Amino acid sequence: WPRWPRPAAGAGPALNEVLESGRWSIASPYDGRPTYEQRFAARFTRYVGVRRCVATASGTAALMAALEACGVGAGDEVIVPALSWIASASTVLGVNAVPVFVDVDPGTLCLDSAAVEAAITERTKAIVVVHLYAAVADLDALSGLAARHGVALIEDCAQAHGARFRGRHVGGFGSAGTFSMHHTKLLTSGEGGAVVTDDDALARRVEHLRADGRCSPPAPPPIGTAELVETGELMGSNRCLSEFQSALLTVQLGELDRWNAVRRRNAFLLDKLLGGLGYTPQSTAPGTTERVYFTYAVGLPAQLTAAGAPVVAEAVTAELRYPVRPVYPPLYASRLYDPASRRRFSISAEHTARVSGPGQPLPVAEAAARRTLALHHAALLGDEEDVHDIAAAFEKVLRHAAELTAQ
Ligand SMILES: *Cc1c(COP(=O)(O)O)cnc(C)c1O
Repeated sequence: WPRWPRPAAGAGPALNEVLESGRWSIASPYDGRPTYEQRFAARFTRYVGVRRCVATASGTAALMAALEACGVGAGDEVIVPALSWIASASTVLGVNAVPVFVDVDPGTLCLDSAAVEAAITERTKAIVVVHLYAAVADLDALSGLAARHGVALIEDCAQAHGARFRGRHVGGFGSAGTFSMHHTKLLTSGEGGAVVTDDDALARRVEHLRADGRCSPPAPPPIGTAELVETGELMGSNRCLSEFQSALLTVQLGELDRWNAVRRRNAFLLDKLLGGLGYTPQSTAPGTTERVYFTYAVGLPAQLTAAGAPVVAEAVTAELRYPVRPVYPPLYASRLYDPASRRRFSISAEHTARVSGPGQPLPVAEAAARRTLALHHAALLGDEEDVHDIAAAFEKVLRHAAELTAQ
């Protein structure tokens, strides 16, 4: 199976250039040239089609900065999908706010807009929509809803670099969009992230939040002096991306569309093959004009639902010798979600009760966890024969459904 991450041509020389430059951080003395971080930001804003991009140390850092830059803070409610990576919940807790878990749509596995509307209260400050596995959420409904209720919409595009909705890249539909460049993601520098926005003032707040309260200067400073300005406008933390990572991302970005196209071609073939067997590939919202794949997610046919996703995943993994897993468990039930394990979240008995999750299980997220399998995108970077191998493994497991159910 293809390996991931995969270095783009020119990655080695780009890293070496930073090494030799002596300027390894955006806080290093100014040398008369733009930082690699600025060069990456310029390329990524052009790619996404937004005005501003601020790079961050991770997708987690990007989400926390975006939440705070949108004004989210102590005690506010933030709507998050029940089905996502743990960061969707931990970042909301991290800014002293309360994650309100909302059920997902059974087709896209992304936020269900009717459920979002029902969950909005006086205390709701933001909606974080995740384009789960790179399927695009219903941005028409969600952006309308956010505008109507006067709450911020933050698009978490950690898994969706390159996806488009109504012809535009995801990330530019809300107040801010966030990306992760973690090693599993479609664009990666090992660790990394970015916030994108069309709002200059919001971008300035993100700059401060990620660089200890400093931001870039209005005009270049004298050579050999620090470039970042200590404005004291907004206190921050150090969540900066290193120059090595920015240089690497700039080169990797050049391959993103080409590699996404290979995955798309293979995924479309897999849709046809698995669909023919009775499996249900994850769908994307109507209005998606460019589908990309972070994880290929597929629902089990009726004959396999009794066996359940964990058992079927193990069987397919054994056939393929490539890991196939059930989708994320609902966040509130995940073993990774445990605010009580951190002293900093014991703010008050009331806060503890508010962050304990929904009173009852959210049925669509629960059912998806029992019935949906997920395959990492690297498996889609091969050729047509690989896709037929994947389908053959799913077909063989389906033939043995009775034995798996008896296990
Ligand atoms: C990966 C991911 C994040 C967090 O990104 P990191 O770079 O790992 O901090 C946030 N949200 C989603 C949906 C992710 O998949």
